[in-house]
Amino acid sequence: MTVQATNQTVRKTIAILGAGINGAALARELLLSGVSVVVIDTADIAAGATAWSTRLVHGGLRYLEYGEVELVRESLVERDRLVRLAPHLVRPLEFCLPVRTRLGGMAAAAARLLGWESLARAWQGTRGRGAWTVGMGLWLYDQLPGGSGWPRHRMVRASAGGMPAVDADSFPFAGLYWDAQLLFPERFTVELFVDARLAAAETGAEFRIFTHHRCRLEDGTLVVEPIAGARGSDAIRIEPAAVINATGAWVDQTLAEALPAVSAGRLIGGTKGSHLLLRSARLRTALGNRGIYAEAADGRPVFVLPFGERLVLVGTTDLPFSGDPDDARTDEAEIDYLLGAVAGILPSVAASRDDVLQHYCGVRPLPFVSRDGGTPASITRRHMLVRHADTLPPCWSIVGGKLTTCRSLAETAAAEVLAQLGIQVGGSSRDRRMPGWFERQSSVEAVARGQAVAAGLPDDLATSVARQAVALYGSRAVAVCTAIRSERRSPPGLASSGPSPAEQPLIRDVDLPKSAVAWSVREEWATGLEDVVERRLMLVFDERLSRRSLEDIAAVLVEEGLLEQEKLTAEVEAVAERLRQRYGKTLEGTTAC
Ligand SMILES: Cc1cc2nc3c(=O)[nH]c(=O)nc-3n(C[C@H](O)[C@H](O)[C@H](O)COP(=O)(O)OP(=O)(O)OC[C@H]3O[C@@H](n4cnc5c(N)ncnc54)[C@H](O)[C@@H]3O)c2cc1C
Repeated sequence: MTVQATNQTVRKTIAILGAGINGAALARELLLSGVSVVVIDTADIAAGATAWSTRLVHGGLRYLEYGEVELVRESLVERDRLVRLAPHLVRPLEFCLPVRTRLGGMAAAAARLLGWESLARAWQGTRGRGAWTVGMGLWLYDQLPGGSGWPRHRMVRASAGGMPAVDADSFPFAGLYWDAQLLFPERFTVELFVDARLAAAETGAEFRIFTHHRCRLEDGTLVVEPIAGARGSDAIRIEPAAVINATGAWVDQTLAEALPAVSAGRLIGGTKGSHLLLRSARLRTALGNRGIYAEAADGRPVFVLPFGERLVLVGTTDLPFSGDPDDARTDEAEIDYLLGAVAGILPSVAASRDDVLQHYCGVRPLPFVSRDGGTPASITRRHMLVRHADTLPPCWSIVGGKLTTCRSLAETAAAEVLAQLGIQVGGSSRDRRMPGWFERQSSVEAVARGQAVAAGLPDDLATSVARQAVALYGSRAVAVCTAIRSERRSPPGLASSGPSPAEQPLIRDVDLPKSAVAWSVREEWATGLEDVVERRLMLVFDERLSRRSLEDIAAVLVEEGLLEQEKLTAEVEAVAERLRQRYGKTLEGTTAC
């Protein structure tokens, strides 16, 4: 089955719609089997739920109550694997789970396990799960495969030394256990694609990504067109061997608009979840190196998590949502709810509105279920691969899933799709290290720092640049820091009295090298300022990000041929406005004329 495109010939190609974490993991898995892949996304890599998540790689302790032991087992195995294969991005984190009573919640937990959600809620009361219920859940967590190599849980008194400043009067007991944090799922997704490209080179398969493109299947041909402003202007026609709809919360919308010949009932019943990023030194200090997983006053789970060395991430809400997932925004009531939850758990270090640095919101791609008696929290977090009947080419949709299970989902989906196409699975990601893998962070940091010093950066700045680069790129930080030297250049015609902003090797205010911007474009498919700020350099979460930083990044994009000089100021304004509207984030500084 050879596939003909207008400007190239591609071998047996599978088209994946959606470049979120699931689309990326699946592309990589298929390429490992030597099958050519084309990925199309209407926005950027990881621009959907992947970026709006709580950023945990976890077994999902609370799913045990819903009898989802198989999901928890799979998630724990994957947690273990991702920590091993991507240690630069997925890091173990200890959690404190504060508990109000010794015995409470047992009847509710039993009812939930039997699927009697309304009864469970009636019996739940306001005191939540007690120490025994929590202890049993954590014991099971320890026993499941994937959980066994990790430190065992401990049940302690909340007044014990070294505990976060949880209100010990309200929560006299606590469970301590381990899960993992993936601070930047956006970067993890980009690395999946980087590895997909490596896999393509190894197997001789073809791999292309079209971000900011839309597509439509017409008589077996996928017509791919750039969305206004995208790189490239020609429509491309592909005759794929199969199409996989991995567009998360947009799955139904994609079926209607891009795959109109496919008939399917409603597949997605997404719920909206918001997070706050808090800048409160007292709260951050109180957390130390632990996250808190507690129940809000209404029984909903709430995470209070360290986010780097200075910030705290709080999430999340869980509200039914219909409409375009891209329109979901954090509302005032959610901000009050989450701040209230923090105050209820940690009253002595409660945060206020002034501490809210920014927020974000997204829609979970959950399977559609009728909500009789259920709550959003009770909807399964399992994933499904739905095969659409009688389509040519064959089409599937991915429904549900978690960051944590992206790899296992990709593995099972690839096996099913390849079997249908009569192709043997030829490779697997099970033991494959991610591109930025390192054995020792300190060694990589030392080499990256050496490169930064060789490029002329003063010692302290070189240390900070290397640390930030390693947090983003793992071992690939060395290449980014090495490139500082070659990227350092003087635009023609500039006066020689002192370095101008254009000659400075670093992006102002945030101290990341400009070489990282060029790297985002050349190596990581970034096509504009928003891509670089939000999903490559993760500067959207940097408190120091200013308009001057945006100007410096935009100037590199001009040099890279992605932006016209005359449009630089307008682009900076547009992204600053997006950050204000989407994240409630206001930038420091003024725009230079
Ligand atoms: C509030 C919240 C908290 C969460 N917390 C966690 C957590 O802590 N741990 C965990 O494991 N999981 C968590 N999840 C779940 C996890 O984030 C998602 O399951 C996962 O990111 C889904 O990835 P995806 O690739 O399927 O979808 P997405 O990341 O949403 O990607 C879909 C992509 O499809 C693109 N697209 C849309 N329409 C089209 C079209 N017509 N054509 C082409 N492309 C299109 C979009 O632009 C997007 O890039 C959370 C989710 C939310 C919302």
